[in-house]
Parts: sequence; C-alpha cells; structure tokens
Amino acid sequence: MPKARQTATLAIHAGAQLQSRARPLVPAIHVASVSYFDDAESLDRSMDGQDFVYARINGPNASLLEEAVASLEGAQACVAYASGMAALRAVAEAQGWKDGDAIVIPADCYGLTRTYLKGYAAQRGVQVHSLTLSSPEGLAQLAALRPRFVLAESISNPCVRVTDLRAVAGACKERGAVFAVDATFASPALQQPLALGADYVLHSTTKWINGHSDALGGVVSGSRARMDVLRAARVIDGAILGPFEAYLTLRGLRTLPLRMKAHSEHAVQVAARLAASPAVERVYYPERSDLLPQGAGGMLAFEIRGAKAAHCRAFLEAVRLARPAPSLGDVSTTVMHAATAAARRMTPAEREVAGIRENLIRVSVGLEDPGDITDDLLAAVASAMDGARS
Ligand code: PLP
Repeated sequence: MPKARQTATLAIHAGAQLQSRARPLVPAIHVASVSYFDDAESLDRSMDGQDFVYARINGPNASLLEEAVASLEGAQACVAYASGMAALRAVAEAQGWKDGDAIVIPADCYGLTRTYLKGYAAQRGVQVHSLTLSSPEGLAQLAALRPRFVLAESISNPCVRVTDLRAVAGACKERGAVFAVDATFASPALQQPLALGADYVLHSTTKWINGHSDALGGVVSGSRARMDVLRAARVIDGAILGPFEAYLTLRGLRTLPLRMKAHSEHAVQVAARLAASPAVERVYYPERSDLLPQGAGGMLAFEIRGAKAAHCRAFLEAVRLARPAPSLGDVSTTVMHAATAAARRMTPAEREVAGIRENLIRVSVGLEDPGDITDDLLAAVASAMDGARS
C-alpha cells in the first residue's frame, strides 16, 4: 500500500491532468510558462524547440495563431509578437543594416513607424528616404535609388492611399532590395502581399485581425528561412505574444473575412454620403479597386470644410455613436483627428508632404448601421462648426 500523501502535496499535485478523449471545439488557453515531459528524450528534444517547453521560446496559443495567419497569407511561416511595433522592430533588427546603407520608408505611414525607423537608421549611419510609394512619382523616385530595404503600407495611414505592391516589389527585385509590407489596414482577408512579391508581410493584429480591441499583438509572415531568423531573435527579446492575447486574436481572426467584407461595404456607403455633404471638403477612400478587388476595407478620412484643429476637437466631443479613440479595426466606429493622432510625431513639413491637413478626420468604420454612423458624423460636423460660429 503506497504511503498516503500529505495535504500540502495533494494541494499541489491533485487535479493537474485532465483525463478525456474529447476534443474541445476551441483551443484551451495555455497559461503555463513551463512544461515537463514524462521521458527525458522528449524533454531533451523540446530544448531544441521541437515541442513547447518554455513560454518565451514558443507557446501553444501563439503557435496556433501563427498557423492561422500563415495560412491566410499563403506564407510558409509566421511569427507572433506582443505588439505591431515589436513585429516591426524585429523585422528591422533582422536586416543587419550598416553605415552607408539606404532604406526607403513611406512618407505617409504610421507616425511611430517613421519615428522608430528614422531613429534606428540614424544610430547605424543608414540613410532614410521617405517616398510616397502610393503615388507614381514615389515609384519613379524609388527607381533612382539603390536601397537595401523598402517598407510600404498596403493602405496608407491616414490618407488611405493604396500602394501598388506588385510594382514596388518589381522595383525592389531589380535593385536587390528586401521588401516588407505593413498590411495592417488591408488585413490578410483583402490582400496577400507575399503573392505580390513582398519578402515580409506584417500586421498590427491589434487592429482588424483581432477586431474587438481586446488584445495588442503583431505578426510577421514570410519564408521559413526568414521566419526562423525572427523566431530565434524573439527567444532573446522575449517579445512573444502572450497566451490570452493569442487566444483572443485567433478568436477574432475566425470572423475576419466576414467582418472585412462588411466593413468595406459600410465604408463605401459612409464615404459616398460624406462626399455628398457640403460640410465636407474632401473624402479619402481607396479608389484603386483594381488593387483591392475584394474590398478596400473600413478606413476612410475626410476633411471638414473650413475647420481648424479646434473645430476638429469639438467634432471629437460631439460624436455620439462613433468613439474618439486612437486605434482602428474595431466593430465600433472610431474617429481621430489625424494631425494629432496617427501623424502626431510628424513635423509640419512631413505632414504637408503626406497631405495631412489640420481639418482631416480619420474614420475606422465599424459594423453599426452605416446610415446611423453617417448621421452621427455629419451631426457632429455641424455641431462643431456651429459651435465655432455662435
Ligand atoms: N502599423 C500600423 C499601420 C498601425 O496603424 C499601427 C498602430 O496604430 C502599428 C503598426 C503599431 O501597432 P501596435 O499598436 O499593435 O504596436
């Protein structure tokens, strides 16, 4: 008869393993930071990354998300990070830029992307060219350079211009440049940049892929060889996406294609009604439907006629359904004043080049009724401009 265990031992070891042949319809959330193995050989193999053993190296939830994203991207592999910025940083650091190299970044990209890449490049003596890759002029300027690395955004932020990724990829190939695409705005439901010639595609999953504003995250996809390099660096950085965030992001991803279809349809309707309003000077919604045949997504921007920054602040306070929040990709509509949000860290000169005027409002169109949302936006515009006149 084995000796009875003491209460302290039972408290720690009882109830540790589930006995079941059932396969849950959704994955469990694996919170263990470390796993053990019944045989020493499996433990040994896990130390070489052949199984889950330590959560900084790899985790089941991050791994499932990586598998799903890689499959949507048509990629050999994907690596998940704790944020979109961590994903971008991982790609930059994997390039081994040195003194005298040149890189190209979009003139109209997410502000923190520019701040980070300019600072990182400056530390290494790397020259940064800011080009509007979403314009034919930008493409022509690229042809005159010999950069080592080119970053594009599939749809630019906040002016939602669509970049011809196939054309940029062609120019990169001719110049031997590595081509990375931040495809956050289009999401893998609308566009697969690797098939268009990109070497890396990255997303802030915080936005459309998650879709419900309840988890930060980032992913990078590409060839197995490139992803192996990132994965090895991530073990050291400790930048892996946590299990709860990976679980929520994967849950959001399940409905990504349906959501993106609806977001795109709603945004077209909102853009059309805004464009018809005399209170609106200009609406930005992607025009190159040939480049995004499955829909142009839920982002749009519009200029309030005659508005100064103070009017835009009044607009943010006047919306009732839309939320003034500095993010995008949620089921609810969010609005931001572009010059003080996405473009906050740009100099006035950089904003001018990017076409970001002080009356520009960025909208992430949610899944509410598009008529209700447009009514809300137009009422808030009227209130902001009336308030200023009275
Ligand atoms: N890329 C784009 C286009 C973004 O809009 C953002 C954030 O707004 C990021 C990257 C950074 O992502 P995260 O906030 O998840 O770090």
